[in-house]
Amino acid sequence: MRPGGPRDPVTGPDSGPEHPFPIKLSGPVIKGFGRGSKELGIPTANIPPEGLSDYPDLEVGVYYGVVALDPSRFTSEATILPAVLSIGYNPFYKNTTRSVEIHIMPPLSSPSPTADGEAGQVKFNKLPDFYGTQLNLLILGYIRPEYDYVSLEALVEDIRIDCEVARQSLQRKAYVGYLTGQGCSEVVQEQRKWLTSF
Ligand code: ADP
Ligand code: MG
Repeated sequence: MRPGGPRDPVTGPDSGPEHPFPIKLSGPVIKGFGRGSKELGIPTANIPPEGLSDYPDLEVGVYYGVVALDPSRFTSEATILPAVLSIGYNPFYKNTTRSVEIHIMPPLSSPSPTADGEAGQVKFNKLPDFYGTQLNLLILGYIRPEYDYVSLEALVEDIRIDCEVARQSLQRKAYVGYLTGQGCSEVVQEQRKWLTSF
């Protein structure tokens, strides 16, 4: 069960991603159980979990990172966007298969749709469907383990906070360059190049 008390506003070191991060995963967006949007109002793009076999010690839980979608299906260039993702089993749903489920957030320069925590008022980012599109993901930090929840509302509220923690964490100097490309090292530039190569 989820422990009580306030949550940390940011996670991971201020100095930037630390081993084993960043972790690269990619794959086509596949069908999940269809419940992300329907039951929770939070769409999550699922990609095949096979890439995780390189990281057998990676804890199941919630992470943050940055993603890019293959622009060939869209008109615009590949843009790098912030994301929260869940890896592994999903205790609330008693899942038996591993999954990688990615919720793509708006750019940090746009207002956060999850900033206001009024119950029942939370709006998550909703894009036009992009099933079958190639997605590249760079996982940059760990947010929290998975918990069992007493209610769907409690789960949604925790995911809302995850989005805010992800945004605040990515806003930091050592992370924001992954999104903006500004003032970042050659290593980060290389990783941005990988993200946007399809
Ligand atoms: P599924 O169980 O098939 O993954 P979801 O209800 O989780 O269904 O919806 C996921 C789909 O919604 C994605 O595959 C994508 O096409 C679309 N989608 C729309 N907005 C987003 C978003 N912000 N983040 C991730 N996927 C989104
Ligand atoms: Mg999903």
